[in-house]
Amino acid sequence: MVRSNNLKVLIAGGGIGGLTALLALRARSIDAQLFEQTEAFRQVGAGIQLSSNATRILRTLGLGEALARVCVYPEGRDYRAWDDGDRLYYTPLGARAEAQFGAPYYHAHRADLLGVLLDGVANTGFRLNSRVEGFAQTTDCVTVTLADGTKVAGDVLIGADGIHSTVRGQLFGKELPRYTGNVAWRGLVPAERVVHLDLGSVTGVWMGPNRSIVQYYVAAGRTFNWIGISRSESRRANRGSPRDGLRMCSPNILAGTRPFAPLSPRPRASCGRRSTTANRCRIGGSGASSCWAMPRTR
Ligand SMILES: Cc1cc2nc3c(=O)[nH]c(=O)nc-3n(C[C@H](O)[C@H](O)[C@H](O)COP(=O)(O)OP(=O)(O)OC[C@H]3O[C@@H](n4cnc5c(N)ncnc54)[C@H](O)[C@@H]3O)c2cc1C
Repeated sequence: MVRSNNLKVLIAGGGIGGLTALLALRARSIDAQLFEQTEAFRQVGAGIQLSSNATRILRTLGLGEALARVCVYPEGRDYRAWDDGDRLYYTPLGARAEAQFGAPYYHAHRADLLGVLLDGVANTGFRLNSRVEGFAQTTDCVTVTLADGTKVAGDVLIGADGIHSTVRGQLFGKELPRYTGNVAWRGLVPAERVVHLDLGSVTGVWMGPNRSIVQYYVAAGRTFNWIGISRSESRRANRGSPRDGLRMCSPNILAGTRPFAPLSPRPRASCGRRSTTANRCRIGGSGASSCWAMPRTR
């Protein structure tokens, strides 16, 4: 049985989940230590949408003001046809969603969110350059082994080590993410390059057959983020040029089974050539599990 007082919790992985778990445990005066494999918390990634259930938790951890400073507070989610730009559907967000769900809906750059979490933990409670290679559990404790051979014991281990989780692999067997048959191109554009397109403070969703483009501002409105999702036989994931991104998103939309009109000018103009970065990522998922926890490992 795991004792509820004087617990020592070990956390594998310092991403969004791991750092939030560290903060939440500290808020309850529970001793926690986090192990992150990278040498430094890098300012990488692109846009992330934070719904009210996430921001409510981050607020209770004292991060509400810091989050508001770096995020964008969208007015709504605007669903439009990919070809003629007609509005198909609109979901209000902003003050209405905040009143209904008790916390705001935000757009954030992942690096900004990670920065807020890191400020929250005040640069303590974690070890960098510390890859968790495996763990052993007994009825009394769980011990992790780090890449340099160091062993650290605690009462509970939380696996927050992402999609290629070592902890999950040891618990339930190694499982490669299943390719969904979709790839996502994503890019970032300095906001001033798209301001004339009047894209609004919304989550813009451009919907086409087997294709979609999602766009929104991040970084307190300084940067515009776009994601173009389409079917692809190729699982190739790489960095590419913005031009590759546009080629990937829009011609593929046009290459459907029946004739298509061109992609609406606004997403076309904002997605491709004006971007400073563009990456192609495959979209994967993992199989459902009926059990996510063992006595000392979550
Ligand atoms: C570099 C990066 C950039 C991303 N960019 C975006 C983005 O732009 N938009 C978006 O929507 N999502 C992005 N994601 C994904 C998104 O952050 C996560 O899918 C989601 O937040 C789930 O968070 P998580 O904490 O479970 O995992 P992650 O955020 O993936 O974090 C897992 C952490 O665990 C560390 N780790 C992995 N294995 C070990 C190990 N064995 N020992 C110790 N540490 C380990 C990793 O280095 C990483 O820091 C990104 C993830 C990463 C890692």
